[in-house]
Amino acid sequence: MPRPRARIHLVPNTRPIHANAQRAASGRYSAARLFLEGLIGHRGWSRAWHKATPRPRYRVVIVGAGGHGLATAYYLATEFGIHDVAVIEKGPLGLGNVGRNTTIIRSNYFRPDNVRFYDYSLRLWEGLERRLNFNAMVSQRGTLNLFHTESQRDLFTRRANGMRLLSVDALALERDAVKALVPLVDLDNGRYPVLGGFLQPRGGTVRHDAVAWGYARAASAAGVDIIEHCEVSSIRRAGQRVRGVDTPYGLIEADTVCLAVAGHSSHLAAMAGLRLPIETHVLQAFVSEPVKPVLDVVLTYGAGHFYVSQSDKGGLVFGGGIDGYNSYGQRGTLPMAEDVAAAGLTLMPGLARLRVLRQWGGVMDMSMDGSPIISRTPLDGLVINCGWCYGGFKAIPAGGMATAHLIARGEPHPLAAHLDLDRFATGRTLDERGLGPFPYAH
Ligand SMILES: Cc1cc2nc3c(=O)[nH]c(=O)nc-3n(C[C@H](O)[C@H](O)[C@H](O)COP(=O)(O)OP(=O)(O)OC[C@H]3O[C@@H](n4cnc5c(N)ncnc54)[C@H](O)[C@@H]3O)c2cc1C
Repeated sequence: MPRPRARIHLVPNTRPIHANAQRAASGRYSAARLFLEGLIGHRGWSRAWHKATPRPRYRVVIVGAGGHGLATAYYLATEFGIHDVAVIEKGPLGLGNVGRNTTIIRSNYFRPDNVRFYDYSLRLWEGLERRLNFNAMVSQRGTLNLFHTESQRDLFTRRANGMRLLSVDALALERDAVKALVPLVDLDNGRYPVLGGFLQPRGGTVRHDAVAWGYARAASAAGVDIIEHCEVSSIRRAGQRVRGVDTPYGLIEADTVCLAVAGHSSHLAAMAGLRLPIETHVLQAFVSEPVKPVLDVVLTYGAGHFYVSQSDKGGLVFGGGIDGYNSYGQRGTLPMAEDVAAAGLTLMPGLARLRVLRQWGGVMDMSMDGSPIISRTPLDGLVINCGWCYGGFKAIPAGGMATAHLIARGEPHPLAAHLDLDRFATGRTLDERGLGPFPYAH
C-alpha cells in the first residue's frame, strides 16, 4: 500500500468491528488445499492478512507490528475476546528485529522467574504452528552452550540445576559428547579449549519472519486491523491520560495505547513525556553461503560472544555481541564483524573456508538490568512491552500473551509480574547475568 502523501482526516467508519466476514479470509492452509490449488493454477489464494485503513477510534492501539505487537493483538482477540484492536506499523510488517534476528529459542536462564517466563514461551512455541495454522518451521534441535573454564562449569552447573528444579530440561555433556554432537568444534583450540557443554534439548530455532506473518494472518482473521506504512509521530495526552496517537491518517484514539516498538521504545515513550531505562544499540548478524548439513544444534561459545546454527537452506547463521555504542542504524561496524569472525574461527576453524553471504543489523532495546519490561506506566492508558535486549524473539509468544493479559485484565500476567517498570525505581532489578546497570554489557 503506498504511503499516504497528505494528512487524511478520519471520518467515522460504519464498518462493524467484527468485519471478518467481509474480509478476504485466507482460509485454512493444508496439504489438501495445496493439492487442490495446484489443480486450478493456484488462483484461489488470497492475502494472508487484510490491509486495513484505520478507524478513528479503537479500544486498543498497538504501536509496532513486530513479533510482540502482533502476538499481543492476536492473544487480545483470541484469549481475551477484545477484537477492537489496531496494530500500527511505520513500515512493512515484520522488517524490524522480528525479521532480523538469528531465530534462536530457548529457556536456559538463571533467575527462576526468568526461567519460568521463557519456558512458558517455549511451551507456547511448541503448539504455535498448529494454533496459527501456519508453518513457522519450529525446530527443537537443541541449544548447546560450551564452557571453557572450571569456574564456568560451576556457573553453568548451577544454572542447569536451577532449571531442572523447575522441571526444565538441561543436560551436562562431557567433551567427547560435545565432539560427537558437533564434529566441527576444535576441542583443543589454542586459545580456549572446550571442557564440556550444557544442552537444552527443547531449545532450537524458528523461522523468524514466518512468526510475524503467522501472527498477522491469525490476528487479522480474528478481526484485528493491521495498518502498515503508518508512522506514529506523536502521542496525545489529556493530563495524565493517553488519548491516542497521531499518524499520517490523523489522530487515532484508543482507551489503551501499547508501545511494542523494540529499539524505538525510548523515542516513542519520550513522545508521551516518559523517560525509559532503555538504551538503543545495534546488533549484527551474518549468514554464510549454503553448505550441506554440518550442524544440527544451536551452538554458543563460552569464551567470547559467538553463536551459530544452520538454516534449512544450508547457510550458517551466526552472530556475536552488540557493537557497544548507541545507534538507530540497522547495520554494524567492521571491528565487531572481525571480533565475531575471530571467535567463530577459534571454535570451528573449518568456517574459514566459508564465504559470508549477507550481514545486517537491528536496533536493540537494551534495558539497564538486561531483563524485559511488560508494564503499565505512570500515564493512564499507556502500556509498554520493551527492554528485550537481544533475546526478545524467543519471548514473543509469552510476551504477547502477558501484554494482552495486562491490557485486558488490568493486572500483570502471573509469570510476568516481575517485569514491571517500577523495579528500576525501587531497586528490585532483575540482573540476569550479574553485570550491573550497564546496558551495553547485557
Ligand atoms: C541480529 C539480531 C539477532 C537476534 N537474535 C535473537 C535470537 O537468536 N533469539 C532471540 O530471542 N532474540 C534475538 N534477537 C532479538 C529479537 O529479535 C528482538 O528482541 C525482538 O524481535 C524485539 O521484539 P519485536 O519483534 O516486537 O520487535 P520489532 O520487530 O523491531 O518490532 C518493532 C516495530 O515497531 C515499529 N515502529 C518503530 N517506531 C514506530 C513508529 N513511530 N510508528 C509505528 N511503528 C513503529 C518498527 O518498524 C518495528 O516493526 C536478535 C536481534 C537482532 C537484531
